Amino acid sequence: MIIIIMGPQGSGKGTQADKLADKFDMIHVSTGDILRDEVQRHGKYEDIVKECMNKGELVPDKINDAIVKKVVERYKKGLILDGYPRSMHQAQEILNMTKIDYIVSLNIDDETAVERISKRLICTSNHKVFIEGKITKEDIKECEDSGGKIIKREDDTPENVKSRLKVYHEETAPIIDYFKKQKQNVIEVDATKPINEVYEDILKLMN
Ligand code: ADP
Repeated sequence: MIIIIMGPQGSGKGTQADKLADKFDMIHVSTGDILRDEVQRHGKYEDIVKECMNKGELVPDKINDAIVKKVVERYKKGLILDGYPRSMHQAQEILNMTKIDYIVSLNIDDETAVERISKRLICTSNHKVFIEGKITKEDIKECEDSGGKIIKREDDTPENVKSRLKVYHEETAPIIDYFKKQKQNVIEVDATKPINEVYEDILKLMN
């Protein structure tokens, strides 16, 4: 089974993807996490990825296409893809690569998105997401044990989030209509609700 999870910054893609991955025993892959790792370990695309991320722009399609192609080949039996596709080219590319079982679209307004991102922290190693002021000792220990630190993402500044939301509305949101026209199985949920309610809504609509 392959599930694509889509939605603007702060809509909870990673959180819902993790829950679905646990339930259905699937692998959750985030292109954002892979790209951040590329920078952290000074990979060959470090400079271009860093530059795009710091500007709130998309990283070139070619780099993402190559990443996702490998991931799809490896995990097609059970994959939740988060962060891809983000451009019309990538949407066409994924349909060429594989059959998709569900496309989950998390809907949230920009104001809530900016507010959520302003409180978001992440673990640099296990990629878990936290909310400022709500981190427990266990969270810190778990992250440190995995070799990481809980930090604010460099690109999570209010300015950068606004640029990313603009890119989302211009380049990524139109993909949802494209998928509907291609008769794909698109599930739309209200992602402003609490985490568990969003999760239950997704499960209900998946049947
Ligand atoms: P968010 O959803 O908060 O923007 P992500 O971690 O999903 O966070 O992505 C962070 C950044 O990584 C994006 O702003 C973009 O620069 C880059 N990125 C991730 N996935 C893609 C993709 N499929 N195509 C282009 N750029 C991407």
